[in-house]
Formats: sequence, C-alpha cells, structure tokens
Amino acid sequence: TSTPSANVGVVGLAVMGSNLARNLASREGNTVAVLNRSRGRTDDLLAEHPEAGFVGTFSYDEFAAALTVPRTAIIMVQAGAGTDAVIDELVRVFEPGDIIVDGGNALFTDTRRREAAVRATGINFVGMGVSGGEEGALLGPSLMPGGSDESWTTLGPILRSIAAIAEGEPCVTHVGHDGAGHFVKMVHNGIEYADMQLIAEAYDLIRRGTGKSPAEIAEIFAEWNRGELESYLIEITAEVLRQVDAETGRPLVDVILDQAGAKGTGAWTVQTALDLGVPVSGIAEATFARSLSSHPEQRSVSGSLPGPSATVAATGADADLFIEDVRLALFASKIVAYSQGFGEIRAGAAQYGWNIDLGAVSRIWRGGCIIRAQFLNRIADAYAQTPDLTVLLTAPYFVEALQRAQDAWRRIVQNAAATGIPAPAFSSSLAYYDGLRADRLPAALIQGQRDFFGAHTYRRIDKDGTFHTNWSGDR
Ligand code: NAP
Repeated sequence: TSTPSANVGVVGLAVMGSNLARNLASREGNTVAVLNRSRGRTDDLLAEHPEAGFVGTFSYDEFAAALTVPRTAIIMVQAGAGTDAVIDELVRVFEPGDIIVDGGNALFTDTRRREAAVRATGINFVGMGVSGGEEGALLGPSLMPGGSDESWTTLGPILRSIAAIAEGEPCVTHVGHDGAGHFVKMVHNGIEYADMQLIAEAYDLIRRGTGKSPAEIAEIFAEWNRGELESYLIEITAEVLRQVDAETGRPLVDVILDQAGAKGTGAWTVQTALDLGVPVSGIAEATFARSLSSHPEQRSVSGSLPGPSATVAATGADADLFIEDVRLALFASKIVAYSQGFGEIRAGAAQYGWNIDLGAVSRIWRGGCIIRAQFLNRIADAYAQTPDLTVLLTAPYFVEALQRAQDAWRRIVQNAAATGIPAPAFSSSLAYYDGLRADRLPAALIQGQRDFFGAHTYRRIDKDGTFHTNWSGDR
C-alpha cells in the first residue's frame, strides 16, 4: 500500500458527488480520493477526468488508507438508508478525530441522531446543506455545514475553496452544531418554495389581469430583474416564459402540465414550523398550492364551481399601473416570506441550542443557491444593525419598503379576490402582516371559547395570574 495522498474524499459519485469531487480537485492544494458503491461510476469518472488527478478507490479500507489524517470524507449518496449504510462503513475504517460530512438532503433530526451516534466513537460528524444543484456542485455551491468546532478547523479551508463567491466572500459558514446546517438548508428550500409560488402568482395575475402573452411577461420579469427584485429566480422566470415549444410553436409554459412536483423539503419546513409554533404561512401556502395543483381528481370539479361576476381586465395605461402594483405586492410578500423563514431559523436555534448568525446565513445565500438575490444584502444589513432582531421585517429598510408597497399590495389582493384568481401566498402574506400590526387580535375570543368548553383558563390585560370564568353560573 502507498502512503496516503488525499486530503479529502468523496463517497457517492452520481451527478452531485462527481461534480463536487471535480470542484474539489480543481482547487489548488486538494487531492481527492473517490469511492462509489458500484465500481462503474468510479471507473467512468477516472476515465473521463484524468485532469482531476483523483485517487480512485474500490473499498472502504482502500479509501481510508488513501486519506491523510484527520481523514475527511464527504458523502453524496441517496438520502436515507444509503446515508446510514455509508456512515456505518466509514465509522468502521475511520479513527477518532476524523471527519464524516453528509452533503445529502437529510432531515435535520436524522442528522442530530447520526451526529450523536458518530460522536460517541470520537469521530466528527457534520451534516452539510448543499445548495445549487448539479451546476452549483461543480462550479461553486452555497454550503451550510453544521457539526463540531473541531471539524470546522479542518473543513473550513476546504469548503471555502469550493464554495460560490458572492461579493468576494465564499458562500459558506459554520452554521452551528449538529443538525444546524441541515436545518438551515431545509428552511432555505422552504423559502425557495414561497419565492417560486409568489412569482407564479404574479405571472398569473398579469396574464389573466392584462391578457399579456408569456413572451411579453418575460420582458416584464427581465425588467424587474434590473431593480430591487433582482434574483436568480426572477431571471430564470423570464427565460422560462420566453421559451417556445419546438413541436407546437406555442409558449412552452402553456404546454407544460400544470401540476407542481415536490421532493419534500417544503413539507419538512412547514412540519417543523408547526412543531416549533412559528407561523410560516407563506411557505405553507406555497407547499399546499403545489399539493392542490397536483390533484387532478380534485380539480376535475372546476367546471361545476361558480366564479365571481367580475372579470375585470386592466387595459392600456391601467395595465401598466396594475403591473407595477403586482411588482410591489410581490416585493412585499417576498419580504414576509423571508422574514418568516428567518423566524423559523431563530426558533430552531433557540429550541436546539444552536448559535446561528442570521446575518452570515443571509450572506452565504447570496451566491451558489437557488434563492440568491441582491435582497439578501438587505437582510445582512438588518442583522448587522440588530443581531437579535425578533422579526426581520421590522428592520427599517423593510418597514420603508412595506410602507411604499402596501397600498399596491392591498389593491392586488382585492383584485385577485374580486376576479377569482387564486393568490394564496400574496393574500396570506398580507394577512400575516396585518396580524403582526394589529393592536388586539381576536385571540382573546378564542381564549374565551377555550375557557368555556375546556376550562383552559385565560390571562387578563389588567392583572397577573390565570383566570377561569364560571360560564353557566349565577350572574
Ligand atoms: P442520488 O441519485 O440521490 O443517489 C445516487 C448515489 O447514491 C449513487 O452514488 C449510489 O451508488 C448511491 N447509493 C444509493 N444507495 C446506496 C447505499 N445503500 N450504499 C451506498 N451508496 C448508495 O444522487 P445525486 O442526485 O447525486 O444526489 C446525492 C445527494 O445529494 C442526495 O442526498 C441528494 O438529495 C443531494 N442533493 C442533490 C441535489 C440535486 O440537485 N440533485 C442538490 C443538493 C443535494 P450506486 O452508484 O452504487 O447506485
């Protein structure tokens, strides 16, 4: 056997793993050992990329022997049982102080369980969120590692070398201990769901409200992408709307079946938020909107459900005003979605004892990932000013933006309701905003009801203590 020569290894050489391995190998100072369950993928990668100088290995013993100490392995296999199988093998061949990184899309509670089990062997376990898909893995992802401080000492320089760069800074930070990285990646995906749904609602409102064609709306999004909405998702929306179907000559968006798929991270974000008691209504509406779309048997009733009498269409100069209103409503709703997402991270950090720098999280999302946007700089500014900000949207910049947008936002939600265009994320974001603003909420009535039927008691505005009313008693 030869002396170890690789400072990092990758297990799992499907598209994500092989791209990440090539990214690692392309950076000065890295030598990368690679391993895959079935030999074929490894052979292919070695044959196709001799320039990478990979150390090909074909068993876990060979893999461990190829790595310098502390051994560092990044797992990129199918999340779930595959991840557990690989961890078991690595724990067998690694030694205390070595580092196992799971870059798959694991649920943070699984990561917490794995971290505790692996830590007991003296080996470090790091759950790492990887965003940016295949292209990100190859050219520069946004990386969200959790795990121990000890592992970060070794991992930090390696991960900084491969991450996307945004405004001169690598898009990676040590998010927090154990499952913090996967938690933050989960919420990233939830925010992505909300952002996509809001953009889709904006498109639908303009299309049905003004009768503009997808190609014309593509130009509107391209224009928006030059302003405060500038983001990867707005940019690709313009591209998608511009696309013409080669077979039929129709706009491709009209040929695509209108049933949205999901791999589950939106649902995780909402389920976790429910457990933590944090309102992420925008993300929830976005997730449910995908569910509604993908149930054709439920939607087959559409012809039998009456719609509104109003079918107001904006025309001419009105159309331009309407479109500007949609833009402002989109911006305001987006602020709500991000504020709610960061609220969930804050609540998760409190629940699990993670010390998460929310400003740093917003900065590592500026590059490499799907929700990358200029806007994230404003979030970073807000946390730089007030690190323990309770509700993100109360930062001065966002308050000013909401002030500027809110009349338009209300007009759009009214218009959508009056004309029967579903805009669940726009309207729930506005309702959330008004809920935050309210001096008094009808929650007082709910407390009364709860005390009435279940003697759940209530607190009073004018004195301490808990109270119960004898509802049926003598007056
Ligand atoms: P994938 O299709 O999710 O998984 C295929 C890989 O997993 C293959 O290398 C396969 O090995 C290996 N594998 C499956 N079961 C295994 C087991 N029991 N033991 C050992 N290896 C096993 O691959 P992917 O699309 O490249 O994704 C990898 C991970 O990255 C996933 O967790 C995914 O959720 C995450 N991720 C994906 C994206 C994306 O855009 N695709 C983005 C971020 C994160 P064989 O070749 O032997 O079958």
